[in-house]
Amino acid sequence: MSAMETEVLIRQHLIDPEVCIRCNTCEETCPIDAITHDDRNYVVDPAICNGCNACVPPCPTGSIDNWRTVPKSNAYSVDDQLQWDELPAQQEVSGEVLTFIAQDESQQQNAAVSATSVIAPHSAEKPHLNLFDVRNPVTATVAGNYRLTADDAESDIRHIVLDFGNHLFPVLEGQSIGVIPPGVDATGKPHFLRMYSIASPRDGERPGYNNLSLTVKRVVSEQDGRLIKGIASNYLCDLKKGDRVQVTGPFGDRFLMPNHAGSNLLMICTGTGAAPMRAMTEYRRRLHAQGKGVDGRLLLFFGARNPDELPYFGPLLKLPPSLVDKHFAFSRLPGEPRCYVQDKMRETAPAVAELLKSDTYIYVCGLKGMEAGVMDALQDICTTAGMNWSALHQAMVVEGRFHVETY
Ligand code: NAP
Repeated sequence: MSAMETEVLIRQHLIDPEVCIRCNTCEETCPIDAITHDDRNYVVDPAICNGCNACVPPCPTGSIDNWRTVPKSNAYSVDDQLQWDELPAQQEVSGEVLTFIAQDESQQQNAAVSATSVIAPHSAEKPHLNLFDVRNPVTATVAGNYRLTADDAESDIRHIVLDFGNHLFPVLEGQSIGVIPPGVDATGKPHFLRMYSIASPRDGERPGYNNLSLTVKRVVSEQDGRLIKGIASNYLCDLKKGDRVQVTGPFGDRFLMPNHAGSNLLMICTGTGAAPMRAMTEYRRRLHAQGKGVDGRLLLFFGARNPDELPYFGPLLKLPPSLVDKHFAFSRLPGEPRCYVQDKMRETAPAVAELLKSDTYIYVCGLKGMEAGVMDALQDICTTAGMNWSALHQAMVVEGRFHVETY
């Protein structure tokens, strides 16, 4: 470049790989698909990102809010970023800074409204966040590890109780923690953390104890005739009482439950997505037992292959209908047609519509594939009841009454 020419600089948007918890929120939020990931890092493509910032507020850790001023001609590529274990330092650069300008302002507004969990319910308790991170994890001790699925069921789903001893680790229903599996991956790098939703209420798996529970499914898949075991899920499912686990978090400041009188919960989940629903239901059950009920109704739609594969099936059956109205959808019962949560919602349309007309908070958690079916069911239920789902959905999102966590 000649002395007369000025280098064009850009503020490049980057994600800190040391802090990122790989929750996929940023990739889901980005309105123009500028964020991508491999099995290690989440990265921003400088050729696509327009700096609209839609991804910044939803990020639970702040790892998304990193910027480096770099020559436009020499921005960090996606391939560069996928190799990183830490962010590069800011280099000394000089030139004319070209700041990002959102190409389309309406795109930015739409991103905010179409996101699934913009804010927490107004009466949610204020959560504690990021008390421990990968550089400073807390050690929890395994207090129990119990199989939830029948002995002969295909899935091995576990209820794992972690005790935090003397460490302060306050959580709320709907929050998650990170677990760091010990050891290194094939390239010699430490395993990155994995996120798990908390399955117990704020006052502990056992009330008054400094513990919490997780619902973990052992992941085993087949690739080229070989069995591949999920690193974190197998580590967790094999833990024994007394084992120590490195934990980060707590994470999550939106997928939280309302605390005010008369607030209803409409909970829709599949498989291990039951974890936050168990936490919320159990919290309301304890309040009722203490005579402190908040008078809201709970309506649950829960999908699994069959009763043997449905975590917490036995304990759930024992909960009285006066506490929670339960509807199970089984997809693989011999001789029966496949039934999904959205089918059960349609069968129960009048009850769903009635709840949607009042002070109700919707929570959807589990398989990503269920999202579209659940949205279609809500649309149909509203149309039949003479309600406008599209307007109600938008209102619920901005009022912190519509929350989705799917993977
Ligand atoms: P799964 O056993 O594979 O599936 C549960 C049920 O969902 C099955 O009956 C399945 O039917 C059904 N299903 C499949 N596609 C569907 C669709 N399009 N609409 C509605 N239902 C559908 O579930 P899983 O393995 O436990 O997975 C649960 C998911 O929750 C995972 O992706 C996990 O990452 C996520 N999650 C877990 C946590 C946690 O803390 N543990 C928290 C949040 C989310 P078929 O018989 O047809 O397969």
